[in-house]
Amino acid sequence: MATSHHDEAPFPWSLGVFDAHCHPTDTMTSIADIPHMKATTLTIMATRGEDQDLVHQVASSDLGRSDQDSNQAERVVPCFGWHPWFSHQIMDDITSPSGIQDHDPSSPEGKLAHYKRVLTPAKTKEDETFFLALPDPKPLSTLISETKARLTAHPHALVGEIGLDRAFRLPKIWLPHQLEGRDASLTPGSREGRTLSPYRVQMNHQKALFKAQLKLAGEMRRAVSVHSVQAHGAIFEVLQELWKGHERKVPSRRERKRRGSAAMAHAHESDAELDKKEDDERPSSSHSTFSTSSPSSPRDHEPLPFPPRICMHSYSGPVEPLNQFLRPTVPSDIYFSFSSVINFTNPSSEKVVEVIKALPGDRILIESDLHCAGRQMDDLLEEIARKVCELRGWELDEGVKRLAENWRRFVFG
Ligand SMILES: [Zn+2]
Repeated sequence: MATSHHDEAPFPWSLGVFDAHCHPTDTMTSIADIPHMKATTLTIMATRGEDQDLVHQVASSDLGRSDQDSNQAERVVPCFGWHPWFSHQIMDDITSPSGIQDHDPSSPEGKLAHYKRVLTPAKTKEDETFFLALPDPKPLSTLISETKARLTAHPHALVGEIGLDRAFRLPKIWLPHQLEGRDASLTPGSREGRTLSPYRVQMNHQKALFKAQLKLAGEMRRAVSVHSVQAHGAIFEVLQELWKGHERKVPSRRERKRRGSAAMAHAHESDAELDKKEDDERPSSSHSTFSTSSPSSPRDHEPLPFPPRICMHSYSGPVEPLNQFLRPTVPSDIYFSFSSVINFTNPSSEKVVEVIKALPGDRILIESDLHCAGRQMDDLLEEIARKVCELRGWELDEGVKRLAENWRRFVFG
């Protein structure tokens, strides 16, 4: 992974390099490396019960800040969310309260009733052994109030990682001898090479959890980082429900001309038509035109029914759905982020080349998606930044600056 770039231009780390999505709290021993990294800031996701407090701790500690220069950007942007791979552990007491209070969810009966409701297939008697070994479910209302408290404690925190996943299956329960052999430096809760069970989480249940977290992000005007595997259509459906009645009004070409609002016309046109050429001509300072109100407007603090900004992380879909996400009537600004590991090491990498070329230049982010901070994370960020610049035909300095601006606009609005 640590490719030497001897025949390439030196990488301009000093311009600022931002990881839009990573998981260093999965390896807590790597956290001490963050202050020594070349990357400027890591956007650190939480995914499950075991890592919410770790993300909070890292963002609250001195490690989360630059130790050299107080003017330097903070090293960490924390994100709090519940990932679809752990969605079965949440009991939806918000959208389907009926029948849920029949049993105490921590009682064996309550647990069985919950897991039978959210997991599929659930037919045989053997399922019960598996279900009873799963954690006691946490009420969705509790998760939302805990997440809200964390977001309040971290005014720049985002909501993530959340989303929908049609492909994943739950890992099998740990066997005693496997538990003895597991790597103790890894934060518990992830798959860690366990074989998979046949169980999947019902899409309706995943959607309810996803939607509740999107609403919280809107209420607190935070951006979100979204995981989507074989679920781009379902993600769009959920977002559309939240956007309904709040679509942006887009003046016709004639109206825009009449108003003479060149900047606005520029922004919307390139969005609608994914016109790379026009986008590339756009001055890099034009990002303020995406804001529907001025940055200091008090309306910027009012709750929204949908997240103001959304990042489709490690976007693996085709080019075609980009149009619907980037339609000028869509009231959320949608970004797409790419990683070396997910996007360029599998058969879909041809598709991702087309996607990166088709996107408006101001909606592209880069990420490592790595479970460990340090040198490898820097290397992966350099690799994907170089790749995006090459595909877009951007000079390295220009491209790194654009990606940094995109990250700032995505995180801070
Ligand atoms: Zn992730």
